Amino acid sequence: MAKPKLIAFDLDYTLWPFWVDTHVDPPFRKTPRGDVLDQRGTKVKHYPEVPKVLQKLSSKGYDLAVVSRTGEVRGANQLLQLYGWDRFFKFKEIYPGQKTKHFERLHSKSGVDYNQMLFFDDEMRNIRDVSTLGVTCIFVQDGTTESVVENGLKEFSKNAESAEATESK
Ligand SMILES: [Mg+2]
Repeated sequence: MAKPKLIAFDLDYTLWPFWVDTHVDPPFRKTPRGDVLDQRGTKVKHYPEVPKVLQKLSSKGYDLAVVSRTGEVRGANQLLQLYGWDRFFKFKEIYPGQKTKHFERLHSKSGVDYNQMLFFDDEMRNIRDVSTLGVTCIFVQDGTTESVVENGLKEFSKNAESAEATESK
């Protein structure tokens, strides 16, 4: 089974169920119990399976990246740090703009070809834009789970095989 060299995740509605620039109120802090709260004291939760998913992918040796268009760059980075996810992500591209730009930078920083990348995002326009580069893009509907990622890896492998079949014709 062909494996991607880089796996990238969107943030809002992909790793956590909110828009970090509108639905929550940074700065964030962590309580001694380990809860992450925003400025108003509201608990800020990620999708439940995300830590397990990141841990698993990183222990299998995959390079991981965050790719987000949010304007709330500080808040997003702070959440990644407070959730303890910073150690999983080799690359972080967090700033507004079209996502093809984020991937162009990711490509030049990592040296990984687009067709060796797998990307998860909840917005169809991003899926459409980034697909044009040759990245395998997976539309995420209810947040990232183990099964979403497993299916994504299968989809990547299928794409890689069909590309190989086309080349050898
Ligand atoms: Mg999103």
